[in-house]
Amino acid sequence: MKKVVIIGAGPAGLSCAYKLLSNNKNIEVIVLEEDSQVGGISKTINYKGNRMDVGGHRFFTKNEEVKKFWLKILPLQGKKAYDDILLELDKSLKKGGPDPEKEDRVMLVRNRVSRIYYNKKFFDYPVNLNFKTLKNMGLVTSINCGFSYIKSSLFKLEETSLENFYINSFGKKLYSMFFKEYTTKVWGREPKDIDPSWGSQRAKGISIRKVISDYFHRLFKIKNKNKAKSLIEEFLYPKYGPGELYEYVAEEIEKMGGKIYLNSKVTKINNENNKIKSISYMNNNKKIDINCDIVVSSMPMKDLVNDMNKIPKNIKDISNNLPYRDFITIGVLVDKLNLKPHKTIKTIHGSISDNWIYVQDPSVTMGRVQIFNNWSPYMVKSPKDTIWMGLEYFCSEGDSFWNKSDKELTKLAAEELKRMGFIKDKIIDSYVYRVKKAYPAYFDSYSEIDKLREYLNDYENLYCIGRNGTHSYNNMDHSIYSGFVCADMIKKNNHDLDKLWNINVDSSYQEEK
Ligand SMILES: Cc1cc2nc3c(=O)[nH]c(=O)nc-3n(C[C@H](O)[C@H](O)[C@H](O)COP(=O)(O)OP(=O)(O)OC[C@H]3O[C@@H](n4cnc5c(N)ncnc54)[C@H](O)[C@@H]3O)c2cc1C
Repeated sequence: MKKVVIIGAGPAGLSCAYKLLSNNKNIEVIVLEEDSQVGGISKTINYKGNRMDVGGHRFFTKNEEVKKFWLKILPLQGKKAYDDILLELDKSLKKGGPDPEKEDRVMLVRNRVSRIYYNKKFFDYPVNLNFKTLKNMGLVTSINCGFSYIKSSLFKLEETSLENFYINSFGKKLYSMFFKEYTTKVWGREPKDIDPSWGSQRAKGISIRKVISDYFHRLFKIKNKNKAKSLIEEFLYPKYGPGELYEYVAEEIEKMGGKIYLNSKVTKINNENNKIKSISYMNNNKKIDINCDIVVSSMPMKDLVNDMNKIPKNIKDISNNLPYRDFITIGVLVDKLNLKPHKTIKTIHGSISDNWIYVQDPSVTMGRVQIFNNWSPYMVKSPKDTIWMGLEYFCSEGDSFWNKSDKELTKLAAEELKRMGFIKDKIIDSYVYRVKKAYPAYFDSYSEIDKLREYLNDYENLYCIGRNGTHSYNNMDHSIYSGFVCADMIKKNNHDLDKLWNINVDSSYQEEK
């Protein structure tokens, strides 16, 4: 019987374990997870009955296999959710599907509402050419935006940086309002110092021309097949947040005989002659060694290489210089927001209906606000009387922001919310959560990543999957798919790792956040 050890119980590791064990009794699967719960970055944190999604995870995919998997684990809602009932909203429901008021194992269909907060005003996201936008910008700024867009369309800059890519796509004025500050907040680098390929991947499909075309299609109610991708207006979301899905996947894995060891951090990969012989992990301060026939790693490539023996210096240098961006999310509970609700989209808490807001205002350090009530009312203990938010701050592990105490961070968050006019009163409660290596970045030694991947290809029983496991800017669907592909390869004794390295390279869909 083959013994497969999977490192990491995030979407990639769990989907690999699930697929390996499906219809296959001839395999032993052990998943080692450093954290005390499953789900990786896509887990849900339960803080005193209020649930936090570490980022706000929309379930959206073009991959039918992944979608089928999601809906097998959590079937689509057959009855209205709590807020839809109270608001008497129409909802398309799946006949025979579960009732979210009575059952937990249910996938909800949610409306997507998100805006940009800039200069103390709200703008539609993606930027919409309506009267409100022009009014918010003012006549002079609107004219400036128009002229600068025309100029950038006529005189294209050489695309040597992300800055030039954005200016060519949107014009200098819109770039400076809506892209420069936010990109710098997220990545800790200005767009002029970022490779343009990053933008063409992330902003693929979002262009002023598409925004204009979508505007006219909406105006005349014509179905637009080529809708820009950031205009997706519905998404799937588990009743209790993304982690709920992975908790059920873990349950299924265990039912099929797989083992998942939590609080088990892999600290050593014992490699010899292009083969991994065993793995050491720490559990409860105890070092445990485990033999393996095959290793599937979804842990960060940098950590994997550091845990291996006798790595050539050039390979170690590449992996040590792989960049990441880290992030802190602060759960904040308030009884109300000091903001005007949307006129058309009602909520049961009486405030704004956004799922999330991009904070592009340079006067605060906050990057994004999630309003969990609007993702799912079941995320919040008292969804009518309180508003439970996730305030997101991008930073780097070990920098002065990262090292602030929880108390300092909460104080800053409350001050910024007041300065932005979101709240007037004190916050009721808060919870600070730090996420290491939230974003694998494409700078520095990333340009040499092929050498590192080629080196790892030579380990005949090692497979790398997932977001940090392949250092690819994956969404959940890419990571899950990489787990599936890897399981198929293992079943067929195939070791063509290029398939795994390239999972999201040609993908036509990149979710915009
Ligand atoms: C802010 C934010 C918002 C996002 N929004 C969306 C969205 O809307 N939609 C979407 O589809 N995706 C979204 N994503 C992406 C999504 O979170 C990831 O694609 C997904 O979680 C990646 O899964 P993974 O299994 O590859 O990696 P991870 O989720 O990182 O899981 C890896 C696991 O390995 C474990 N591990 C690491 N090192 C070790 C070790 N040494 N020993 C044992 N275990 C270890 C970790 O603890 C973790 O559990 C978002 C991400 C962020 C940061």
